[in-house]
Amino acid sequence: MNMRGYHILFFRRRLCLGAVIFFLVLPAFVFTLPYLSSAQLSRSTHVVTIDPAHGGSDPGVKLSESSYEKEITLAISLLLKKEISKLGNFQVRLTRDSDSNVSMSERKRIAASSQSELFVSVHVNAGFGKASTGYEIYFPGFVTAVAEKGGSKEILRDMAKNKLLNDSVKLAQLIQKNMEGVFPRKSRGLRAAPVTVLEGLPMPAVAVEIAFATNPDDRKKIVDEKVQGAIARALAQSINSYF
Ligand SMILES: [Zn+2]
Repeated sequence: MNMRGYHILFFRRRLCLGAVIFFLVLPAFVFTLPYLSSAQLSRSTHVVTIDPAHGGSDPGVKLSESSYEKEITLAISLLLKKEISKLGNFQVRLTRDSDSNVSMSERKRIAASSQSELFVSVHVNAGFGKASTGYEIYFPGFVTAVAEKGGSKEILRDMAKNKLLNDSVKLAQLIQKNMEGVFPRKSRGLRAAPVTVLEGLPMPAVAVEIAFATNPDDRKKIVDEKVQGAIARALAQSINSYF
């Protein structure tokens, strides 16, 4: 082949390659790019529901003549939302963002309809005396119902429950560890209990009893905005570590 023939062949090959890129590869790339990026986005964005317990006509436990649990849980939850939002890859749903009545079923519906991956209910504890102090974390105490008839459906249901239980405990342990920084040596441990708002949720869920409204030292701490911020940071850090 002379040089002219070689150049023509080379030119045709280049033209051919260019056509392939232009007509096949480029449109495929351009059209799939938005889908790819949205798929990657949804994979890295976590949805969590924060539940400021009580509200409206349900004040929760009493802290003083004029202040109640519902105010503390809302203040901490709003700060928690701010802290989580700083992390960048989270969407936060609040079951309430004002002093309003929200039923248990509505709180659960908000978590389920937003396809939240975690549910954290924020409470303040109260004891019979002044001595009780510290924080405790509850996770759903799935009542082990003995299946009347053994079958694959029951086994699958149990496996799903075990996964929810394990993940709830994992989050509870992280919260227990991080809250230690705010309330040193005040952990009262993790507890499995049938907490109404947690039962039947399709995602890992915990209820944090922050401190005791009936203990003077605890009460002083939880009304302090700086301490509320520290609690919010401890909870945000736990949620971030969970993922
Ligand atoms: Zn409560």
